[in-house]
Amino acid sequence: MNHANYRGRFAPSPTGDLHLGSLVAALVSYCQAKANHGIWLLRIEDIDETRTVPGAAHQIIRTLANYGMHSDEPVIHQTDPQRQQAYAAAMTQLTTQKLTYPCICTRKQLAGHTVYPGTCLSKSVPPDKKHSIRVKTNNQQYVFSDLFQGVQKQNIGHQSGDFNIRRKDGLFCYQLAVVVDDADQGITEVVRGIDIMDSTSRQMYLIDALQLQQPKYAHFAVIADSQNHKLSKQNHAKPITHEDPYAVTWQALDLLQQQPPQMQKKTQSALLDWAVKNWQPNRLCGLNEVIIQ
Ligand code: GLU
Repeated sequence: MNHANYRGRFAPSPTGDLHLGSLVAALVSYCQAKANHGIWLLRIEDIDETRTVPGAAHQIIRTLANYGMHSDEPVIHQTDPQRQQAYAAAMTQLTTQKLTYPCICTRKQLAGHTVYPGTCLSKSVPPDKKHSIRVKTNNQQYVFSDLFQGVQKQNIGHQSGDFNIRRKDGLFCYQLAVVVDDADQGITEVVRGIDIMDSTSRQMYLIDALQLQQPKYAHFAVIADSQNHKLSKQNHAKPITHEDPYAVTWQALDLLQQQPPQMQKKTQSALLDWAVKNWQPNRLCGLNEVIIQ
């Protein structure tokens, strides 16, 4: 694998086509990678197959291409057998270090708990009983300096406690998959929405336990509508248009405080070039929400 100095990624879950909020995520990661003369990768996070919408991954790749953003290396899908093997190997590595245990708690039993109460930590679970796999955590404070949000302090013990890395239905969990994928793809900076920032300490914990390299982090503002709802598929954000990528990208850059110019030649490639050459990540510092008027 060719490891440029900077390697970034956009990692959408294929639960629908891109909406303005996810286009912003693609654009921030793309501009940040390209402004650093780096590599930009697309990874389809279809790990939770129960949420995947058939055809959505293909649609996302097509939409990004229409907006002029192409992955610099082949697109990775988390459901690929090779990726599944890599997650299984990481889980084995954690188990060998005695950092995992089976858990048979039901959702109902855990209702009302934000932090796992440790119920199964020292229980012996018959291997044929359906169980998830949790990692044992500690009360260590993780500190990281986020490019956009400044110094962050997170403590897994207060946030989630021991967390699942494989579900009862056998699917690997996002926290494990993302860490293994970012490491295998040599990602140097994780650029994503602030709504996922709380996951960072769990990921830093797994990275340390698996003896992988810690990337840098950059969590940018969430895009919300005028009623203050985050744009998301759950909130029925409309897919972005394929008719006029220039107009949508211009709006996204404007929301990102990049002050895009009115260009004479209104082409998507000229606008994207402008965005990379004039990228001002400092304008996103301290912003945690951007409201569309
Ligand atoms: N797959 C996640 C999403 O679509 C992004 C996860 C990440 O960037 O770490 O929200």
